[in-house]
Amino acid sequence: MKPIGLKVSNNEAFINNHSFYDLKETFKTPLYVFDEVMLKKNLNDYFTYFKSDLFKTRVVYASKAFLTYEFAKYLNNYPIFMDAVSLGDMYICVKAGFGLEKVVLHGNNKSNEELEFAVKNNIGLIVVDNLYELNKLNEITLALNKKVDILFRINPYIDAHTHKYIQTSKINSKFGESILDKETINLLINTVISSKNINLKGVHAHIGSQIHEVEAFKLEIRKLVAFINELNNNFNLSLNTLNLGGGFGIKYTIDEQNVSIKDMQQGIIQELEKEIKNSDSRINYVLIEPGRSIIGSCGMTLYSISQIKKTFGAKNYLFIDGGMADNIRPALYDAVYELDVVKKMNNKKDILVDVVGKCCESGDIIRTDVLVPMVDDTDLLLVYQTGAYNYSMSMNYNGLLKPACVLVGEDVLVLSPRQTLDDLIK
Ligand code: PLP
Repeated sequence: MKPIGLKVSNNEAFINNHSFYDLKETFKTPLYVFDEVMLKKNLNDYFTYFKSDLFKTRVVYASKAFLTYEFAKYLNNYPIFMDAVSLGDMYICVKAGFGLEKVVLHGNNKSNEELEFAVKNNIGLIVVDNLYELNKLNEITLALNKKVDILFRINPYIDAHTHKYIQTSKINSKFGESILDKETINLLINTVISSKNINLKGVHAHIGSQIHEVEAFKLEIRKLVAFINELNNNFNLSLNTLNLGGGFGIKYTIDEQNVSIKDMQQGIIQELEKEIKNSDSRINYVLIEPGRSIIGSCGMTLYSISQIKKTFGAKNYLFIDGGMADNIRPALYDAVYELDVVKKMNNKKDILVDVVGKCCESGDIIRTDVLVPMVDDTDLLLVYQTGAYNYSMSMNYNGLLKPACVLVGEDVLVLSPRQTLDDLIK
């Protein structure tokens, strides 16, 4: 739950030997702090365990979890691909030198501008969501006289046990086409067969996020391998690519089960090998798209505390200088976070509070009913596991500035500077 670079000395937390107080001095608070040691371990675990002798594998980082220009440059040093969802994501990649041939483009409603940009810049793969999009893409490739490799986004209809807002494979989900909808699948395939510049390589699915059980992915593998086989047999195709999406969970709270990247990926590889060996189809390229499980556990948010306000209704509020503008997940998904006070790591926690931000919303809560030690306005609060979907969903509500993001290893790399007041009037 705590990143591995976090160590306690004399009751004070440090990150890879850097003082949080020094980081606050330089970058102000709120501040997103990423542990580089943890990041390297997560990346290395994926490269080590998502591997097989039977087929080629590729880890595609889901940039929606966290992406900045500097982070794209950083990831460019690793053998990793990137999943992009918009023109903005692709633009960041191109500017950072992360070539689009290493990018997989997603989205349920891609614009012409996005498709054109992708095709012109030789995108690695486009995951086509529906027939309307396929027809648009066909026209664009003809107009540009360029070829493109695609996958179809398939909804394999798997009920992964996670929050309803991050389930993506219910029968009526907005993403992709249902594995059960034979008529639409036929139309998609026939359109591809008659298109000159579109090369269908295989299928993609993403069954949801924050999934802890490998069983959900095993079911996905069984369904998709059988589906590829069926398409190959019925339409005389040679689809060879399977993209399983992301959604591998992380441990946010002490009560949650731990999910190791190693165990999850070994389970996935085993199932893939079994299914692919037994299949008539030569599936020789498998991709996964982890976002949260690469970057989530590396990130923490550092806040300055002002006071504990006691209300007439007997509730105590611990006030911090950020809130829902830098972490919307408790309001959006009922997400729960663990936290500590930087210089009081071992102090007795005996005051029950709600940790709340400074936004004009009663829902501006980072954590309800949590025990903390006695604090004052010299204290800093550390909220763990905020690396994924925090900065990327941050906003300027109430004129709050987006915090800086720093990657802390031996040195400190600024992944994104803190916004300035002038940014608000641009
Ligand atoms: N791939 C796709 C298509 C997604 O929609 C998502 C998340 O929404 C991901 C990958 C990444 O999911 P996670 O960050 O949970 O691994």
